[in-house]
Amino acid sequence: MIDVRDTSHLAVPAAPATSEGGPDATGAHCPIEVRALTRRFGDIVAVDRATLGVNEGEIFGIIGPNGAGKSTLIKMLTTLLPPSSGSATVVGADIVRQPAEVRRHIGYVPQLLSADGSLSGYENLLLSARLYGIPHRERAERIARALARMGLAAASRHLVGHYSGGMIRRLEIAQSLLHRPKVLFLDEPTVGLDPGARKAVWDHVLDLRRSFRTTMIVTSHHMDEIDQYCDRIALIDRGRIAAIGSPAELKAKMRPGATLDDVFIQLVGNQSETETEEGYGDVRRTRRAVREHG
Ligand code: ADP
Ligand code: MG
Repeated sequence: MIDVRDTSHLAVPAAPATSEGGPDATGAHCPIEVRALTRRFGDIVAVDRATLGVNEGEIFGIIGPNGAGKSTLIKMLTTLLPPSSGSATVVGADIVRQPAEVRRHIGYVPQLLSADGSLSGYENLLLSARLYGIPHRERAERIARALARMGLAAASRHLVGHYSGGMIRRLEIAQSLLHRPKVLFLDEPTVGLDPGARKAVWDHVLDLRRSFRTTMIVTSHHMDEIDQYCDRIALIDRGRIAAIGSPAELKAKMRPGATLDDVFIQLVGNQSETETEEGYGDVRRTRRAVREHG
């Protein structure tokens, strides 16, 4: 155990999965409740009346083709984009009326590259610590713990420009953890990573959930990892939630032996993606391409 936090909430029994949000069986509110949340860009309805609830400690996957609205939904929940209509609360705080309160409780790893390649891993974390207002006397210890938690202690003084794609992603997750958020948003954390680097990212995600019961929303195009690691998923197609449930529930609605790939293709059609282990420049290109062509 590398990090220390109040774990009294661990005693709360797992809430039953609800897709509607609202109070759970214990009367407590879900850490994420989304009601008819909508975002338009001109004529485009990027997110169309999304309604869902995510339970404490849940790893909730959002899948869907490029341009489906996954990042836009996450940007609204992280208070980076105002919704056009609808509402949502994150850890009980309203995303429109209490954005500062929401930000205090969340970590966000954006789809696009956010680490600075011209700085070391440690220096990147120092910038984040300042950004999050972590008191000066606590910074060194928090940074050391975040680096150790993400398996980056040995590389902390190396330039991030020399990191592999998997190390960069783990560094970005470390940055998002410095203020010990209750809820973490990970937008395509494994895009462009080889299977070993993808597994390392997920191992760290599972470790966070195990240690702190962190609630997580994760997007990915890799159906195998969504199937393996997510408790529930929402499939988004052209801004609308086309299906919601556990991977097993969604597969059971298809035919016997169906995979999540089958679910995806049946509901939204076909798509392809490449998997390669990348360096910093490749990561920048890949994530830019996702933005420009997504
Ligand atoms: P995804 O993350 O699922 O690939 P996005 O949420 O990035 O999808 O995009 C959803 C839709 O909204 C797309 O049609 C995209 O082009 C559009 N969109 C996203 N951001 C903007 C923006 N800032 N301005 C205009 N259109 C946008
Ligand atoms: Mg996206």
